[in-house]
Amino acid sequence: MIDFVALAQPGIRGLRAYDPGHDLVALRRAVGSARLVELGSNENPYGASPKARQAVVDALASLHIYPDPLGGDLKQALAAKHGVETAQLLLGNGSHELLMQFAQVFAGAGNEVVASQFGFAVYALAAQAAGATLRLASANARDHAMPRGHDLDALLSAITPRTKLVYLANPNNPTGTWYGRDAFAGFLAQVPPNVLVVVDEAYAELVDAPDYASALDLLAQYPNLIVTRTFSKAYALAGLRVGYAVAHPACIAVMERVRESFNVNALGLAAAQAALADTVHLQATAAANVVQRHALADALRDRGLWVCPSQTNFLLVEFGAGTDWIEAALVASGIILRPMGGYGLGDCLRITVGTAEENARLLAALDEVQA
Ligand SMILES: *Cc1c(COP(=O)(O)O)cnc(C)c1O
Repeated sequence: MIDFVALAQPGIRGLRAYDPGHDLVALRRAVGSARLVELGSNENPYGASPKARQAVVDALASLHIYPDPLGGDLKQALAAKHGVETAQLLLGNGSHELLMQFAQVFAGAGNEVVASQFGFAVYALAAQAAGATLRLASANARDHAMPRGHDLDALLSAITPRTKLVYLANPNNPTGTWYGRDAFAGFLAQVPPNVLVVVDEAYAELVDAPDYASALDLLAQYPNLIVTRTFSKAYALAGLRVGYAVAHPACIAVMERVRESFNVNALGLAAAQAALADTVHLQATAAANVVQRHALADALRDRGLWVCPSQTNFLLVEFGAGTDWIEAALVASGIILRPMGGYGLGDCLRITVGTAEENARLLAALDEVQA
């Protein structure tokens, strides 16, 4: 028998694969999709733009042809939307792919990667897979104004001469927390110019907090800044896997060296471009999410539960010592949430904000379980 773990590169040996939560395919088969309320993966319950669906249908005629390896049309549309050059854009098979590749390209053995406690799990995976050392900065305390959110001062303190890359999310998953414009600008001004800062804005389109600002505004000033976005959340195209990064053209050029030439498929390119153009659909679903997020948070707080402040389409909720059995009982009633043990938040569950009907079913099941 070959010891494949011993054969693997040092960074891979200590790695645990990304935990996608429950096996939904098996659950759907066992219970039937209609009886399940799936609130574990932060998907958009309102579905993709009808124009994106039509674009996929239209693209079916050309399945035998390779997709555009440059993603030129989508990049043109993104460049116009964000007011950047196409050379500042990198397309990914989901932003997850790009988050992994930034570490692969810019960090390695002997280097450090800085991220936050309760930050998105992919950052640690990316650092370890690249063979770099991960340094975790403590998150804000539970009684902070932004409980369990990123502590930008702690992140700064974690940077050493060996640091190549800092990953942070705004807003963050799994906490839903965010930081404001001024705090981030102050942070960035203190990061050494050769340390790359990756700001993951997977939920940016869902934010309604007035103090929030995208890091895109700071790109012209900071060549070490990288912003990632995705079509998986607000644009409701998780099944097609399209994400992108915006950064300095010279940074993108280096990243292009490792990009697999057809990493974004033809259906994804077509759907993303159509979804981007349908601002009416985006705004309608984002507005519905804000309404439901507030309503669900209020309903949970009315039940005495602690709910982390959120600017996303999910809520981090504390269930205390009974978390595991509450979660198991909810699964038995067909309600799928995301356990948080892997994040060191074993007393919490992460709940995707669903439609009004889905949220009502969740609350009814919760009342039954806790009665
Ligand atoms: C969902 C999510 C992503 C990315 O997803 P892709 O589907 O790979 O684009 C990235 N970052 C965070 C914080 C997320 O929650």
